[in-house]
Amino acid sequence: MKQCTTIDSVRQARASYGKVGFVPTMGFLHEGHLSLVRRARAENDAVIVSIFVNPIQFGPNEDFESYPRDRERDLAMLAKEGVDLVFTPEASEFYPPDFATEIVVKGVANRLEGASRPGHFSGVATVVTKLFNIVQPQRAYFGQKDAQQCAVIRRFVEDLNIPVAITIVPTGREEDGLASSSRNVRLSAKERALAPGLYKALLGTRILFQSGERDRVILEARLKELLRQNDIPQPDYAVIVDPRTFEAVNPVTDNALALLAVPFSTVRLIDNLPLGME
Ligand code: AMP
Repeated sequence: MKQCTTIDSVRQARASYGKVGFVPTMGFLHEGHLSLVRRARAENDAVIVSIFVNPIQFGPNEDFESYPRDRERDLAMLAKEGVDLVFTPEASEFYPPDFATEIVVKGVANRLEGASRPGHFSGVATVVTKLFNIVQPQRAYFGQKDAQQCAVIRRFVEDLNIPVAITIVPTGREEDGLASSSRNVRLSAKERALAPGLYKALLGTRILFQSGERDRVILEARLKELLRQNDIPQPDYAVIVDPRTFEAVNPVTDNALALLAVPFSTVRLIDNLPLGME
């Protein structure tokens, strides 16, 4: 497995590959990330993974400094998966002092997670656009866990005619149902014990949907009630939305998502579940 830290060296190595599948990450890898890597491995001639804790997608009071990092462990995990190249950019080259461009997505990027974290999706759209231009993959893989991020990426890839096929991979979960996340290690023992309640609340809401309920207000009330019953802190949002626009849907359609964000003391967790999925 090759490791590149400069943009030129990635471009040079990439020139010798055929069809490239690309998995952008912020590292501190877990099984969720590896499911993206395995899918990319199965569908492409070569697999490129980037590890970059992207400073411009963190707000001033967010956890950029404390975001967990373990480069050696990440590299060992990726080597085992048969990854061809890992790109670990230096922030100083990626964002030189005179860097002045930002990709701003409107509509879907302004709602929910975008409203809670101003500037977050612009930071994501900008880094992903740069990475696509550097890596020039045929396909790129993203996780359903970050459902609104997926919708934002699909939006600007389509709007800007970026020639990369986007594949969304289902959410990987721990045995107790908690969505795998690099941030889970920062939960206290008590919070970690409560956190599977997010998934339980999503599953319970889906059961009500499957029983025939299509009224958004009733489904959202159920979601919030189940969060309370599971002793989950007050959510930033707990809603039923359209998976492309992230606007409220009523009546609730088969492709709708139950979606939530919950601030625990030091970590903000997000999760979602497509209601029509078996
Ligand atoms: P991150 O390192 O958190 O920026 O995530 C990198 C990629 O992995 C993104 O496309 C995420 O949506 C995806 N991802 C993160 N957690 C999971 C998970 N539990 N299951 C599937 N994909 C995930």
